[in-house]
Amino acid sequence: MNKDNKKQIMITVISIVLLIGIGIAIFFIIKNNNNDDKTLAYTDLIKEMSYGNIEKIEMTVGSTNVKVKVKNEEEEKKSIVPNTEAFIELVQSKVAEGNEIELIQKPKSPIAQIGSGLVSFLPTLIMIALFVMIYKMQGLGEKGKVYDETERKTKIKFDDVAGLDEEKEELIEIVDFLKRPEKFTRMGAKIPKGVLLYGKPGTGKTLIAKAIAGEADVPFISMSGSEFIEMFAGLGASRVRKLFEKARKMAPCIVFIDEIDAIGSRRTSNSGAETENNQTLNQLLVEMDGFSSEETIIVLAATNRPEMLDGALLRPGRFDRQITVPAPDLKGRLEILKIHSKDKKISEDVNLESIAEDTAGFTGAELANILNEAAIIATKNKHDDIEEIDIEEAIKKVTVGLEKKTRKYSDKDKRLTAFHEAGHAVVSRYLPTQTNVKEISIIPRGVAGGYTMYKSDDDKYYISKTEMKEKLVALLGGRAAEKLVLDDISTGASNDIEVATGIARDMVTKYGMSDDLGPIDFQGKEPYEIQMFGENIGDKIGAEVKMLIDEAYRNAMNLLIEHRDKLDLIAETLIKQEKINEAQFNEMFED
Ligand code: ADP
Ligand code: MG
Ligand code: ZN
Repeated sequence: MNKDNKKQIMITVISIVLLIGIGIAIFFIIKNNNNDDKTLAYTDLIKEMSYGNIEKIEMTVGSTNVKVKVKNEEEEKKSIVPNTEAFIELVQSKVAEGNEIELIQKPKSPIAQIGSGLVSFLPTLIMIALFVMIYKMQGLGEKGKVYDETERKTKIKFDDVAGLDEEKEELIEIVDFLKRPEKFTRMGAKIPKGVLLYGKPGTGKTLIAKAIAGEADVPFISMSGSEFIEMFAGLGASRVRKLFEKARKMAPCIVFIDEIDAIGSRRTSNSGAETENNQTLNQLLVEMDGFSSEETIIVLAATNRPEMLDGALLRPGRFDRQITVPAPDLKGRLEILKIHSKDKKISEDVNLESIAEDTAGFTGAELANILNEAAIIATKNKHDDIEEIDIEEAIKKVTVGLEKKTRKYSDKDKRLTAFHEAGHAVVSRYLPTQTNVKEISIIPRGVAGGYTMYKSDDDKYYISKTEMKEKLVALLGGRAAEKLVLDDISTGASNDIEVATGIARDMVTKYGMSDDLGPIDFQGKEPYEIQMFGENIGDKIGAEVKMLIDEAYRNAMNLLIEHRDKLDLIAETLIKQEKINEAQFNEMFED
């Protein structure tokens, strides 16, 4: 066989392989497109899971694509998880907490299985896999959810968004522009191309974006930032290009990019994944600069980590308008509760106002979820309609997890939990800025062995340094009590410690509350940026955080030593009756 012949055969073999690859790829595209209308962003999946809204998760070993079934939704949704093993662990921990999630782990797809048997074909298989992946990914450009198709435009209107009156007012202008662009352009008015919505998860960013599309009656094309990443170099960028290609065809329309921080975090000059991110981000900037203001495309983006965003995104002509979407205030919460109770059978005795008062700090998503849970609990309790106790139970379920009366406790654990919770309660009682105790319980709920519930705080815009310091003391009261009474400490305080550390860090790096470091924002900065303020500034930040925590722990300990009689009384009562309510608690302090 001469050299040319060999080459010929090689080329033929490669061609055949490619054809097979393309065939398989087409098969996958068709297969995927059939059930691919719905995707669930990863963060939303986590959110829904923590609310107990996920019924079933189906995954193929080794694949980051999972199928999920959300409660009360007919169709299964697809989601992409960043790391399958970590995800499986997470799901299993949720199951251990009492969540009823059916986790199905299917074996690898046949192709992959054949692959493991036929190692000699490995290079070929890699090629096929490559093709499949490339085709799938290019197909992903099609994944932007289009609620268009004329008959399926989003029906959500501003009326479905409760509270957020000022935000809606700002956004009405955009609705107007999408409806009657000529009115604006004739005046020479420049309409923002991009609007960035800031706010923590569940505050209604996606909802309000959809409402804009609904009000303007234009298509809503959405994609999540996390869907752009974790792929081959250049593909993230190509998906951005496809997304905008499609938007141009559909204009006037809304493009919604959820979790934009996933692609839009500060560009760095490094290698690997970051370079890939940079390319995606650059493409997004190019696209946004590319369309003229006559093309009626409005790009809305959402993030809960604004400090992570690259400054280039915020320049004029890009996301030059930023709107903060806050957690609802009292009035907002009441409105949200009203909207979400419309389709539910709620008893006339239920006072939504008092529920709104009890839920300061809750997001719209959490409130909606509470009403859902209440409906489920009412059904379980065989009530005719949803009663106040069902809602109260739902609030506890959403905040601390489900009560587990059956979990067996050793006497030692019970005693430990009783003193831990009594520690929180006693310490808070003697701290002027901390709100009153509403209920203490040592019946396990979710992952928590027990809990101390406080009366809801008023809505506050500002929190003072004193208040934050006292919050730290209250949080560390549990651990201090363990140490004081049992002279041993447990893992039960890990969440308290996590929260306390977060607060202390924010005090120093975000709110400028450290006398030594002064009012400088260190948060989300790269080490070199922080170094600008001094060589050992990182050490100083750490030392300041530690000082706050140490001081709070000492204060908690001192309060408990001083009021040891109360600590013992409450803990012993808890061991006997497992729960203490507000009235009982206050009685114990009447001398
Ligand atoms: P985000 O995108 O900010 O994480 P979403 O818009 O996805 O939050 O909100 C999730 C759900 O929570 C919504 O579908 C809606 O049911 C409820 N919700 C959140 N905010 C509001 C609000 N302001 N009014 C009514 N419902 C809300
Ligand atoms: Mg969202
Ligand atoms: Zn605790």
